[in-house]
Amino acid sequence: MNVPQRAIAVQEITASEAFQQALAIAAEHADEVDRRGRFPSEAVDALRSAGALGWGVPHEYGGAGAEIDDLSDATFELSRRCAATGMIFAMHQIQIASIARHLGDAMWFRNYLRRVVREQRLIASATSEVGVGGDLRKSIAAIEPVPDSPDSLIHFEKKASTISYGAHADDLLTTLRCSPVADPGDQVLVLTHFADMEAKPTGEWDTLGMRGTCSPGFVVRATCPADQVLPVPFAAIAAETMVPFSHILWAHVWLGIATDAFSRAQNFVRGQPRQNPGTTPPSALRLSELSVRMAEFRALVHAAMKEYMSLPEGAARSALSTIGYAVRINNLKIAASEAAVEACQAALRICGFLGYGNCSPYSVGRQLRDAHSAPLMIANDRLHATNAALLLVYREGK
Ligand SMILES: Cc1cc2nc3c(=O)[nH]c(=O)nc-3n(C[C@H](O)[C@H](O)[C@H](O)COP(=O)(O)OP(=O)(O)OC[C@H]3O[C@@H](n4cnc5c(N)ncnc54)[C@H](O)[C@@H]3O)c2cc1C
Repeated sequence: MNVPQRAIAVQEITASEAFQQALAIAAEHADEVDRRGRFPSEAVDALRSAGALGWGVPHEYGGAGAEIDDLSDATFELSRRCAATGMIFAMHQIQIASIARHLGDAMWFRNYLRRVVREQRLIASATSEVGVGGDLRKSIAAIEPVPDSPDSLIHFEKKASTISYGAHADDLLTTLRCSPVADPGDQVLVLTHFADMEAKPTGEWDTLGMRGTCSPGFVVRATCPADQVLPVPFAAIAAETMVPFSHILWAHVWLGIATDAFSRAQNFVRGQPRQNPGTTPPSALRLSELSVRMAEFRALVHAAMKEYMSLPEGAARSALSTIGYAVRINNLKIAASEAAVEACQAALRICGFLGYGNCSPYSVGRQLRDAHSAPLMIANDRLHATNAALLLVYREGK
């Protein structure tokens, strides 16, 4: 049988002992990472040892060439153990895809991707901004040419409202207006190294959930060669890669959180007959109801991932810029984020007091708190507002 090379190679790495070890380490530290609101450094170091930060980099730059299905699997497995680690892995892979799929023949970015693999560099993202909130397609900060610079240097300053793992990343991908006179939506993406820039935190990250992502605001200032600007307008990068990759990989984080909560509820229900042998506990009915919701959740997420993989690549990739696709990929984010919260709440109802306490094997407090970040991460209302406008001109057929 002719099995595609890619499938063999990536299955080998996700099944590798090094990745299994990263999963075990993520699980071991998850509660403490959450309690102390600290970066999951042990798990991220283990991912580096597994070479996982280079998985999304294409083969030609030395990476594993993992596609979105493999990255989704890895994100899901990590998030079942530690959602913060899963989200950090997902966000990093979203930045890799945004670069790898839009670098054209830019030599600087080709060399950069080779460095990511070699040095296992971690990339953070600054799209949100004070003044525009979570509106991905608007920026206030702009790149400005540095006058009389021999290397065509550019400069920018951005008040980023949230940068996950900003104090722990090597590099930053930032949305900016392409010039000081450009419209808010006329944006580009710029890659800078934290070691060569100023990044001042503007607050604390002491949140309800996703505490290990360590995502405070920052004021970032950088001066760099113009080669570090991706050569394609951000409008295309957002429609073809950043938005679909974000919504699909985030949905796998949330599915991982919900799956963990479901497993805890199932363990609780399975333990109950031991107290009353020969009976089916009443909570088993609630578990059965939750299992239906979980099947719907999985189907939603897998269908969106399969649709993305089935869409054309290369010149025909503009199929991803249609109104219909924009509506569907926003629907995925809204539905998956709500499903995660509902599943964790249902698991809490099943486990009762033992789920509410923080020290039992049936605790679902961390999962519930982490899940509550999902509807806020690009506010669902914002996506509803976008879809409401699109649905005025688009007749839904799928
Ligand atoms: C765990 C986590 C990690 C994150 N990491 C990063 C990161 O690494 N980099 C990054 O750039 N950002 C990051 N973000 C920020 C995120 O992407 C959003 O920008 C942010 O959550 C939006 O914040 P907001 O709700 O204050 O702002 P807004 O989106 O401005 O929303 C403010 C309020 O207005 C409402 N609202 C907004 N627009 C509309 C509308 N059109 N119609 C009706 N109501 C509307 C919203 O529902 C909300 O109540 C992260 C967020 C979280 C939760």
